[in-house]
Amino acid sequence: MPQKTKHTPMMVQYFGIKEQYPDAFLFYRLGDFYEMFYDDAEKAAQILELTLTCRNKNADDPIPMCGVPHHSAQGYIDILIEKGYKVAICEQVEDPKLTKGMVKREVVQLITPGTKVDGKEVAAKENNYLTALIVEETGFGFAYTDLSTGELKASRLQDEESVLNECSSLQTKEIVLGSGIPDALTQQFETRHILVSEQIEIDQNAELSYLTADLTDSLAKKATLVLLAYLDRTQKRSLGHIQPAIAYEPSHFLKMDYYSKYNLELSRSIRTGEKQGTLLWLLDETNTAMGGRLLKQWLDRPLIQERLIQERQDRVESLLTAYFERMDIKDYLKKVYDLERLVGRVSLGSANGRDLLQLKQSLDQMPYIHAILSGIDEGQWQSLLADLDPVAEVSDLIGRAIHEEAPLSITEGQVIRDGYHERLDQYREAMHNGKQWLAELEAKEREITGIKNLKIKFNRVFGYFIEVTKSNIGALPEGRYERKQTLANAERYVTPELKEKEALLLEAEEKSQDLEYELFIGVRDQIKEQIQTLQRVAKAVASLDVLQSFASVSERYHYVRPELTKGSHRLELIEGRHPVVEKVVGAKEYVPNSVLMDPETDILLITGPNMSGKSTYMRQLALIVVMAQMGCFVPAEAAILPIFDQIFTRIGASDDLISGQSTFMVEMMEANQALQYATPDSLILFDELGRGTATYDGMALAQAIIEHIHEYVKAKTLFSTHYHEITALETTLSGLKNTHVGAVEQDGEVVFLHKMMDGAADKSYGIHVAKLAGLPDELLKRATLILASLEDNPVKTVFGEEPLLKEMLAVAETEIAPTLAEPDQLSLFGETSAQDNQVLAKLKEVNLMTMTPMEAMTVLYDLQMTLTKE
Ligand code: ADP
Ligand code: MG
Repeated sequence: MPQKTKHTPMMVQYFGIKEQYPDAFLFYRLGDFYEMFYDDAEKAAQILELTLTCRNKNADDPIPMCGVPHHSAQGYIDILIEKGYKVAICEQVEDPKLTKGMVKREVVQLITPGTKVDGKEVAAKENNYLTALIVEETGFGFAYTDLSTGELKASRLQDEESVLNECSSLQTKEIVLGSGIPDALTQQFETRHILVSEQIEIDQNAELSYLTADLTDSLAKKATLVLLAYLDRTQKRSLGHIQPAIAYEPSHFLKMDYYSKYNLELSRSIRTGEKQGTLLWLLDETNTAMGGRLLKQWLDRPLIQERLIQERQDRVESLLTAYFERMDIKDYLKKVYDLERLVGRVSLGSANGRDLLQLKQSLDQMPYIHAILSGIDEGQWQSLLADLDPVAEVSDLIGRAIHEEAPLSITEGQVIRDGYHERLDQYREAMHNGKQWLAELEAKEREITGIKNLKIKFNRVFGYFIEVTKSNIGALPEGRYERKQTLANAERYVTPELKEKEALLLEAEEKSQDLEYELFIGVRDQIKEQIQTLQRVAKAVASLDVLQSFASVSERYHYVRPELTKGSHRLELIEGRHPVVEKVVGAKEYVPNSVLMDPETDILLITGPNMSGKSTYMRQLALIVVMAQMGCFVPAEAAILPIFDQIFTRIGASDDLISGQSTFMVEMMEANQALQYATPDSLILFDELGRGTATYDGMALAQAIIEHIHEYVKAKTLFSTHYHEITALETTLSGLKNTHVGAVEQDGEVVFLHKMMDGAADKSYGIHVAKLAGLPDELLKRATLILASLEDNPVKTVFGEEPLLKEMLAVAETEIAPTLAEPDQLSLFGETSAQDNQVLAKLKEVNLMTMTPMEAMTVLYDLQMTLTKE
């Protein structure tokens, strides 16, 4: 930091403020600009593409400086926040006209990635979570909030792994750390691009203490206090909409680690990172932003309690059967704005007239929705109906107070309705009369002067005046008006009478604007008192919206209600479909598949050629489990499912599309997670595990892992593999069942049926494909021969580092050929013709050791062509 001593008073003030916000860009208000200095200026100039200038250009040490106009600052702030920086907004807090010397300035808000509530990238259907973490010997305290909606939750977490999992699943952009968090963990946040902020003191703010009153766990409570202290320090404004903290327990929900969620494409596509093509995309037929956000929360935390799942299912079923009512509910929901965020803005003090009108319009839908739902009358809706309160005080108040065409600004009038406030009405009357008087004056002066285009006009500099065009000036009686301003083609005049009216008019206008502002704030404050009720309404609407979305999706795609039982180990998914693939390829193209596992079967070993549908089959089950435990119906003919406690998904390295970062080591570490933490109630998907290493290695590991699951873990497991050798395990492991994907020949082409069948896949499948592809018969016979030999005499090096074909050929020639006596073989190995001799000679000649498999293949082909030319 440069020396403070020789600076101007303004720079001294700047340093004083900057010192308190070393990690933020300080937007220092100077007139109509926010200015930045020194490092802030240099960095911001680069990021925001601003021109870097200098203050005190001629001094020894000029000060680097750059700025943005205050009215367009939001765009620049958005960019900085999006890049993970903080911005401190420093305003003049005194009226410069009324102060002598330096105007007092203060930071009025610290905007950070986790506390950003408006601006372009706050997506309507997404939450922006700020998280907080504290550590003690007994574990971690964790809390999170969305400042825009006021949601606040807290928990105790056992280990770093769970902390990172929570952070990923909430997609937090910023975490506030209490003291003593291990450096290694802090680094983990940084590598995940989570901005790390610190909050060491917890100053027990009495005003906020009721928020933590319900928390019994001391760690969860401390984390919440850290979070609230940070909010208090950065926001410096009312936080009345923050809801009392709710304790939650991650183990009360279906647990999926980040990798599994990612891999199942629950809410983000692996390829594009977008919502399109994900389960969320499929399920989202919500009509409100709140519903959209709640759907995502439910997707992130599917349930594990039978009763709660059934409650949602009952509600979905009742909406599914009541078609017309559901359509009506949808129509009303479409008229409901983002209640949660509107209420948040009321509390944060940023709601304007239009926001209040939206609030009213939303509340006005409640009686209709209430009536329709009561009409369905299935008993399931009682608790929700109780919360669908139209909050009449609020909507009446808004109806009486707020002008139906209120502008965005709340300081320029036209916000408050006539008849709401007597004094305001008087001002308006005065203004109205004044305007009338002006119109009459205009008419009168026109008549007296005979100038038809004489006009009374207004501008901010000169106020009201009479304007006469140059050509008509001659017609003006001498000395009738007082000259005020001369334009190129007109003269402007005033009269003492006009000046007097003008003073009255302007005063009325200014006073009425001030009064309107005051009245508006009053209305907003009155609404603030109803925040809790409004938030309950918002929650009820959100949950109704998600349930109707489930019903709509279930109807559209013909889903069925699954039967779920806790602790049951029977899994009967009849003719299930992968919901997203089905939607993409179309229901006619999609081939349904059952997944049948009786209580004794733990492992389904899936074999089949590439592209036959193994991965799709496995994901289909996982997605159906997730949907079922969210309370939605599922794509199948019928489904009996256990309630799973956790889902683990691991994909073999070569199938891994994630930026190639998953090495075999990572794959094994992740497999280990599943083996360590899975219980008999868990679901494991291992897709081509072990592909990332040498064949025998991978095969050995795959087999050992299967045996381990079978012996110890006993979780329901789908294991796909291309190692046919492993299918033999079915004979030794009672809980393992083989299944494979079938294929048929159709018009000379192989067609994958995408149909699962019992038993292991046909090993010689590759040769069938080669045949269909039209390879020469002799070659195919030869290949069959070689295959037969390999099956009888597996030679280690065949699969090792050595060139494959060379070994295969050697084995075939020395070991099997003499033992085979098929008639067809005679032409090759029996009596000889000239061509045969030629071929044999050539065969002896070739140096297999120096050939690539491809070259060997070419030679073989040539030899064969020689023979068939006979
Ligand atoms: P594998 O894992 O066996 O290589 P995938 O599961 O990746 O095969 O499936 C390959 C492609 O086949 C998928 O992209 C999908 O379009 C299609 N597919 C898979 N299963 C089905 C099915 N049951 N019905 C229709 N198309 C399917
Ligand atoms: Mg696959």
